[in-house]
Amino acid sequence: MTNDLFGAIEGGGTKFVCAVGKADGQILSETRFPTTTPKETLARTIAFFQEQNQALGPLTSLGIACFGPLDPNPSSPTFGHILATPKPGWSGADVVGRLQAALGIPIGFDTDVNGAALGEARWGAAQGLSTFLYFTIGTGIGGGAMVEGRLLHGLIHPEMGHVLLPHDTSCDPFPGICPFHGDCFEGLASGPALEKRWGQRAETLPADHPAWELEADYIAIAMEGFICAFSPQRIILGGGVPQQPQLIPLVRTKTLALLANYIQSKEVLENMDRYIVPPDLGSRAGIAGALALAQQALEEV
Ligand code: ADP
Ligand code: ZN
Repeated sequence: MTNDLFGAIEGGGTKFVCAVGKADGQILSETRFPTTTPKETLARTIAFFQEQNQALGPLTSLGIACFGPLDPNPSSPTFGHILATPKPGWSGADVVGRLQAALGIPIGFDTDVNGAALGEARWGAAQGLSTFLYFTIGTGIGGGAMVEGRLLHGLIHPEMGHVLLPHDTSCDPFPGICPFHGDCFEGLASGPALEKRWGQRAETLPADHPAWELEADYIAIAMEGFICAFSPQRIILGGGVPQQPQLIPLVRTKTLALLANYIQSKEVLENMDRYIVPPDLGSRAGIAGALALAQQALEEV
């Protein structure tokens, strides 16, 4: 295993990152290109791995941490496909089938956020934990869950960015931007929601702008719900928006207040600074997660 080479794909809505790495997480080679049509994007992906097969040696398995919604159930007829997505051309795209036909190796396939969760479990902020949540708050909002040591799929996979939150329209008349639900968590609190509500990109809003109190309110309401629902040992907040340094401290304080001393755990009551945290792997969580998915695919064969 230590000398095996693994393929890793971080399939994003705007860019694909492809890499070859080893079991310890070391990346030997990496490339990135824009996500265009499935045909063109997957052809570039296949070409990269075929070149790497020649240059570095044969790959043992491949992991794909991909934008969704997608079908991660290996016993389903649509396993490895992208499901209905607003992203033009990608609804029904057979990502795993195409790569499997060209590369002929075991493939692990999961959501970007489940992948990032696995990466953080192996090499990052969730080492040693069996039940925790990983969120990305960026162009969209998504949540991945590891529950008792396994990534959670259930019916399809969690869609934690689309829960509905209490929305007091007298304080915040913004209707939200989710094309499906309007004012769900993603509709109210994603990066593009911030930009639309305040008329400027989120990263240009000053630290003392009222946007951040409101943003922290929505994130804290969601976190209170997910803490009660999943009993996570830790919550990791990744993506562009939580890179605002004042945001996570505000979210911790507001979440603690909303929990109202009901969850009687020292982790929550005394160690909030270690309970809601940024990812250890930062922007590397996605590709590290894909590498971990490749290894996991091998364990499951
Ligand atoms: P993606 O979701 O496309 O993978 P990101 O997680 O970086 O990429 O999310 C992009 C969104 O996050 C944009 O809406 C952008 O305005 C916002 N964003 C990026 N960096 C910051 C930052 N430092 N502070 C606040 N918002 C940010
Ligand atoms: Zn929604």
